[in-house]
Amino acid sequence: MNNSVINVAIDGPGGAGKSTSARAAAKAMGYIYVDTGALYRAVGVNALRKNIDTKDKAAVAASLDGISVDLVFENGEQKVLLNGENVSFEIRTPPASMAASDVSAVPEVRAFLFDLQRDIASRNNCIMDGRDIGTVVLPDAQVKIFLTASAEERAQRRYKELQAKGSTVSFQSVLDELIERDYNDSHREIAPLKPAEDSVLLDTTGVSLEKQVEKIISIIKEKVQ
Ligand code: C5P
Repeated sequence: MNNSVINVAIDGPGGAGKSTSARAAAKAMGYIYVDTGALYRAVGVNALRKNIDTKDKAAVAASLDGISVDLVFENGEQKVLLNGENVSFEIRTPPASMAASDVSAVPEVRAFLFDLQRDIASRNNCIMDGRDIGTVVLPDAQVKIFLTASAEERAQRRYKELQAKGSTVSFQSVLDELIERDYNDSHREIAPLKPAEDSVLLDTTGVSLEKQVEKIISIIKEKVQ
């Protein structure tokens, strides 16, 4: 890693508040915010568009042939491009979430996305969030944080987000899906979701967004200043 850049790794399960708090903390610190889940989601959307069974690992690996996935940053906001097309909205649907979780267990997919993540981190002060950032992608990150919250609270947050977007999915289906994704993410053979040994654990159950952001900023300042 280029020693002059600062890399902050934030990992944790879905709905723990990673993206919202990491985005706000990055803005306050003047760093870019990199949401790596969007990359897995884009690969998932590509598979769905091709009508591939996302649980079929060989078919998912083959679906990478000839595709391009890129992240671009405009005014500090990340956009994810699939074959040059902005798919930043399409990747947020519940089927895309499940597809992302499935394809993320395929080693070829993780290898395909690895260099892109490393390259961005080597060139920018950034807060990068995901599942394996502190353990695999940026093992030398100066700051590592593992965010968690109870499954019910995480599902409640997701449910509210989806409702605000006009979705009519039930709370129970959001909770069931989240539990299934947690299980997949922490039990897969490759790069499973787990805290890096040198990470700071932050439980956000019952903690307001403002407090989460304050805490993240204070952890970063403590480690790098
Ligand atoms: O963070 P988000 O919910 O958008 O991630 C979607 C899926 O992508 C996760 O359920 C996980 O399976 C996968 N993912 C991953 N490694 C990352 C980021 C996301 O496996 N670094």
